[in-house]
Amino acid sequence: MTTENRYIHNALKQVHHKVACSALQGFSISGLATYFLFPEMDFCVDMGECPLNATPLDHVFLTHAHGDHARCIMRHNSLRKMMGVERDSVYYLPESICEGAKAWIKAEALFEGVNESKFRYPEIEPVKAGERIPLRYRKDLVLEPFSVKHSVPAMGATVLLHKKKLKDEFLGKSASEIIELRKNGVEVTREVYEPQLSFMGDCLGESLLENPDVFKSKVLITECTFLDNDEEQMAHKKGHTHLNSIVKALNEMGDDVKCEQIILSHFSMKYSEKHIQETLKKNIPEKFRDRVVAFI
Ligand SMILES: [Zn+2]
Ligand SMILES: [Zn+2]
Repeated sequence: MTTENRYIHNALKQVHHKVACSALQGFSISGLATYFLFPEMDFCVDMGECPLNATPLDHVFLTHAHGDHARCIMRHNSLRKMMGVERDSVYYLPESICEGAKAWIKAEALFEGVNESKFRYPEIEPVKAGERIPLRYRKDLVLEPFSVKHSVPAMGATVLLHKKKLKDEFLGKSASEIIELRKNGVEVTREVYEPQLSFMGDCLGESLLENPDVFKSKVLITECTFLDNDEEQMAHKKGHTHLNSIVKALNEMGDDVKCEQIILSHFSMKYSEKHIQETLKKNIPEKFRDRVVAFI
C-alpha cells in the first residue's frame, strides 16, 4: 500500500481546511467514518469518529443513523464528562431517528454497566425539515434542516448567521438621529439571515437540485461517493452521489452558485488520492474548478 492510501483511509488522521466561516477539521471516507468540526461556530456535523478536539464543541448535528456517521455521539458525550466539561452538549437529530437513537443510547449505557436508576439521556433535540432552530449556546447561528434522499431517512442542513441590520430607509442617518428614532419607538432594524454553511449528508445527487438554496451558502459540503463513469447506476442503487450529478447541478445552477467553496467528501474507500484529484480535475467545469476542493 502506498503512503497516500494509508493517509486517506486512516480515520484517525484529521484533514484540516480553512473555510469562509470557520476552520474545518474532520474526516470523511464512505463506510469508514465521517465527521466535520467547525470550532469557530461551536458546531459539528456527524460523529463517525470522536477525536479529542471535538469534545469542547457544544452542538452536534447528526445527518442520519448509519454507523460511520453516528457511532461516536455517546463517546463525545462521555469524553466531555470525563474531561470535566460541565455544560451539556446538544445533539440535533432528524425527528424520525430520535426514538431509535434513545433506545440505542440506553442499551449501550446498560451494556457498559451504568445502573438503570442513574441513567440519564443526553440532550437530544429532534429537528424537522424547514424549521429554523437557534443553536442552544450560539443564538447568532440558526440551523435549518432539509430532507435528502438516501437509503435511510437522512437530512442535510444550512447554518445561517442571524443579524439585525439597519433598514434601508435609515442608511445615511447619523448615530444621534438613529438614537432619536429608537427613542420614539421606531423599529430601525430588520432581521437578516445569511447562509454560511450547507451540508448535504449522505444523499442521491438529485438532492442538490431539489434543495437549490444550498448554493447560496458561502460553503457547501456535499458527498461525492462515486467518481467513475460506469458507476452511476451503483451510486443510485446505494443512495449516494456520483460526481456527474454534481457537475450537472453546477452547470444547471450556473451563476446562481454563490458558494465561495464547495467541499467534496465521503469518497468511496476504493479510490486513491491520485485518482480522486485527477478525476475532479478532468470533470469539474473550468468555471468552478478553483472553488471545488476534495476533503482528503
Ligand atoms: Zn456515509
Ligand atoms: Zn449513509
